[in-house]
Formats: sequence, structure tokens, C-alpha cells
Amino acid sequence: MQLVFEQIRCGGDRNFGYLLGDRQTHECVLIDPSYSPEAFVERAREQGLTVTLVINTHGHPDHTNGNATAVKLTSARVAAHARCPLGADIPIDDGQELLVGSLRLRCIHVPGHSPDHLALYEPRHRLLFTGDLLFVGKVGGTASDLEARTEWDSLQRLLGSVPDEATVWPGHDYGARPSSTIALEKATNPFLLCANADEFLARKAEWPALKKRLGLK
Ligand SMILES: [Zn+2]
Repeated sequence: MQLVFEQIRCGGDRNFGYLLGDRQTHECVLIDPSYSPEAFVERAREQGLTVTLVINTHGHPDHTNGNATAVKLTSARVAAHARCPLGADIPIDDGQELLVGSLRLRCIHVPGHSPDHLALYEPRHRLLFTGDLLFVGKVGGTASDLEARTEWDSLQRLLGSVPDEATVWPGHDYGARPSSTIALEKATNPFLLCANADEFLARKAEWPALKKRLGLK
């Protein structure tokens, strides 16, 4: 196989989507094409790739608003977690694998930011798509303490199930750089440096003021 992998800026709120494929089987998938479905489909076509799936990390509109156009242009099926409010042609459960040519994409259910959130892990090249769960230097927003605790549990579970060398590919360009590694995030992400869920909640509460003080965007 030969890897096709592109991080694409989609517009919106610094949204990132991804093109992942196998050049030998001429198949690819689009992950959260959101605001720029035409650009994703164009990139696939230019490389002679058939889009087999549109995969959503979660059901929020800024990640799913390109689905209809992408499907219309490609006849791809939509894969998302079974709890995705929009439904899916392929409802995903935790641990399920999606095939992209000869690549395997492992779906890990990581609720918190949303109940239907998935992280996607490609073990051969150690690519981890984290959507709005984990950003470079940050984590996804939550609306309640319960959601924040759920997110903390999801992060711990994710960190325990992928290697430190895995590269992190987030759903938004919110950090100092567009991608990271699990090792680097473990060492530097203020939310992953918390010792427990209580500290995590406290850090979330103080974050807006801290962000302002440090001049972070
Ligand atoms: Zn979201």
C-alpha cells in the first residue's frame, strides 16, 4: 500500500478535515470535510481515488455540514457513532474497524465534548484523529461537570490505548502547531498534566482567565 494522507483546512473556526487513503487500491475516506466538501472531493479526484466513506468524529454541525455535498458528489456512505444525532449509513460502535483499502481505522468511543464522539486510530502509520476531544495544547469544550468528567475518562482511556509515538491530528487548528504527538501532549498539554478529574475540572474553570493572561488564542 501507499499512504495518502492530507490535512485540509476547511474554513469555519479553523476547522481541519482529513483525506486518508490507499494509493494502491485507489480508495480513500474523508474525515469531517465540513465547510469544504468540494475541495476534498477534488483532491481525491486529482489523485484517482474513489471516496468510499465520509467519516464524522462527532455530530456537531461544524464537522458534519459538508456531508450532504460530499455524498452527492461521490455516493460515499456516511460512518459515524451510533449515537450521532444525524444518524449514519454505517453506525459505529466502540472498537469497530473501518477499512480504507488495506488500512484499518480503529474507532474509539470518547464521549465528553459530545456523547457520540469518536477518535480514529490508524495503527500502521500511528495516525490518531482526535476531532474535538484533544487539540494541540488544549481539550474540547464541555457544558457541565458531568461532561467534563466523562471527557477526562475518555482522555485517560485514549492515552492508554494508543502509543506515545502516535501523531495527533485534531479537528481544529487551536494550538501552536497544526499537529502533535501523544508524547508531546502528555508532556505539555496543561489539561493532560492534571493528576485527576478534580484538577481537570478546576483547570477547565480557570482556563478562560489563564488563556487571557498567557495571550493564547
Ligand atoms: Zn464539536
